[in-house]
Amino acid sequence: MINVDPAEIAKFSELAHRWWDPGSEFKPLHDINPLRLDYIDGHTGLRGKTVLDVGCGGGILAESMAQRGAQVTGIDLADMPLKVAQLHLLESGSQVEYRNVAAEDLARELPHHFDVVTCMELLEHVPDPASTVHACAALVRPGGHVIFSTINRNPKSYLLAVIGAEYVLRLLPRGTHNYAKFIKPSELGALARHAGLDVSAVIGMTYNPLTKVYALGPDADVNYIMHCEKP
Ligand code: SAH
Repeated sequence: MINVDPAEIAKFSELAHRWWDPGSEFKPLHDINPLRLDYIDGHTGLRGKTVLDVGCGGGILAESMAQRGAQVTGIDLADMPLKVAQLHLLESGSQVEYRNVAAEDLARELPHHFDVVTCMELLEHVPDPASTVHACAALVRPGGHVIFSTINRNPKSYLLAVIGAEYVLRLLPRGTHNYAKFIKPSELGALARHAGLDVSAVIGMTYNPLTKVYALGPDADVNYIMHCEKP
């Protein structure tokens, strides 16, 4: 059985044509991209590395990593976002290899292959996040890095990531996120360790609705990034 929720794929496919519009539903991904790109580059040194971006969507992160000198493969299970990502390469002149393949299947094809695996804003959309974490761990080479980002689960994250972002500020369409699928850092850490990864760092990503500025810092109550390494 393939680890995917068809309703999630339909949701992202329907919006895909607006992926690169920085004023669209994808504005938050555009806004956080410089922050997460610098974080990933700072912890892994992207230049010259082979990188896999799992759940790459329209390719905002994948392209930016390629522009930092990485050799990037992006995978997703939704065709429309992948088509948009592919088309955008014509505009940007970047080089990324895009494929519609499940992380679990690619892990059988290319085990221990990549220097860096990124899996951003995906785990809260898959039926079995443990399986995705295992696949990411299998895809990275020993000594390589895996970077996850997702949303913490607590009353504050419900209030800010669901009510605040979808209903009050309308940064995201209603129904983008399902609170029950949010993952505490302790839970993600346990999944990562169970998959044979060491957890090196957790950093929070916050949004100030008054200044409209995103920042990285110690507050991991809502959005957070986890950096793991494979021994
Ligand atoms: N990682 C990108 C896009 C996040 S949006 C970024 O942060 O910029 C979530 C993406 O996950 C969508 O493109 C959606 O199609 C994809 N997705 C949802 N379920 C998936 C699954 N089971 N396997 C792979 N990709 C999936």
